[in-house]
Amino acid sequence: MIWIWTKEAMRTRDNRLVAEAMEHGAIGFVHVVPKKWTMRDVYEMKIAIAWREKMKTYNIPVVFVSHIPKESEVWAYGHQIERPKLVEWTQIVTGAGKPYQKFTPFYKKAKMYPFQVEEASVTWRKQEKVEIPWSEVDVQWPRWSKTVTLPLYREEDVLTYLETIDLSRYAEARDEIENEAVTRLSPYLSTGLVTSRTILAFGLKEEAFVRQLLWREFAHMTAWAQPHVTERPLYEKFQTFPWRDDEVQFTRWCRGETGYPIVDAAMRELWQTGYMHNRLRMITASFLTKHLRIDWRKGMKYFMETLVDADEASNALNWQWVAGVGVDSSPYFRIFNPLEQGKKYAASGTYIRTWCPKVQDVHREQNDAIVMHDEARKHALSHYEQWKQNNSNDSHII
Ligand SMILES: Cc1cc2nc3c(=O)[nH]c(=O)nc-3n(C[C@H](O)[C@H](O)[C@H](O)COP(=O)(O)OP(=O)(O)OC[C@H]3O[C@@H](n4cnc5c(N)ncnc54)[C@H](O)[C@@H]3O)c2cc1C
Repeated sequence: MIWIWTKEAMRTRDNRLVAEAMEHGAIGFVHVVPKKWTMRDVYEMKIAIAWREKMKTYNIPVVFVSHIPKESEVWAYGHQIERPKLVEWTQIVTGAGKPYQKFTPFYKKAKMYPFQVEEASVTWRKQEKVEIPWSEVDVQWPRWSKTVTLPLYREEDVLTYLETIDLSRYAEARDEIENEAVTRLSPYLSTGLVTSRTILAFGLKEEAFVRQLLWREFAHMTAWAQPHVTERPLYEKFQTFPWRDDEVQFTRWCRGETGYPIVDAAMRELWQTGYMHNRLRMITASFLTKHLRIDWRKGMKYFMETLVDADEASNALNWQWVAGVGVDSSPYFRIFNPLEQGKKYAASGTYIRTWCPKVQDVHREQNDAIVMHDEARKHALSHYEQWKQNNSNDSHII
């Protein structure tokens, strides 16, 4: 009997882990019920409940447990079987045989190879009832979870959704916040309800879109090659960078009370829905790390707790990129003007007013803004210059 960890394994298509486990006989799943919940935990729990219903038909148990003891032999993606990929990472390497640290050469090389295609789909069969060696726990939902609307939580529904996706505007409009052209597939990819390979099998192959799927792959490859990506800057010189510690400003950022309408709208949407458009993730992350000069790791952690698509690798790489501390980053001295970004990508104000209905002028900082853009920008730059000078014997600093 093989027990499988539900993490990224609750689907029928492109699921070698489960298909292979079934070759050995009966299977069962264990799903860990968290004590402290993130938004993604709540979503995964909902997926697991639907999965349990589906598995009942085949007498396949899905047990809700408090933890998986280290010594127990539970199969999991990333352990017995690699996660499904589009390209073989060990093939996409530099001339010196090292993993790429920059996305563009990774992307160019990746495109030289045919993408991997879907592997075995699971053929479900009814099995004999099995004894359950786990003690089951009750699900104590956090109170806030009752009011959130979650994305689709059944694979069948996600596959139906894939058939409806239209990428004709994607390349030109993927940055637009109001007239959205993005796919919102990230929760399904993060939880493993669907794989990138299945998405391609549905004919979703528009180049700008595939490029984004490869960004995800690049993030995962980086986390595999450099597991410290979630803890310290890939651009190691930034380890000495003096971030500010300011709990009051950090809390105002989290709550969407910075006084910058585009930032506040995005942070409130995140809190209430677990979703934020990519452009807004960049604007809010830039605001935290440049205008407030607060450590990118604090923002990264907050996103991990609140995003419904929270993905360690993508989140960490993107935070490093925005903060300017990664190898392939937009440099620290490039500072977004949130008001200009708002005018460009959320011009009509509809989006901002949805989340900040009291704001009069949607493209102006409010009277109670926590910092003034010009001043904050100057401070960030002089701070950066000073740090650079203190490390001036170090030729690697940009
Ligand atoms: C600070 C910051 C934090 C982020 N944290 C996460 C995270 O925790 N989880 C996550 O899945 N994405 C993260 N992203 C990447 C990106 O914002 C989301 O993947 C995207 O907004 C999801 O919306 P979508 O599915 O409509 O994207 P689409 O534009 O439709 O893209 C299709 C898919 O490509 C992948 N993708 C797109 N952009 C990126 C990117 N920049 N990096 C990696 N993969 C990408 C996603 O899987 C996405 O579902 C983060 C970006 C930033 C700037």
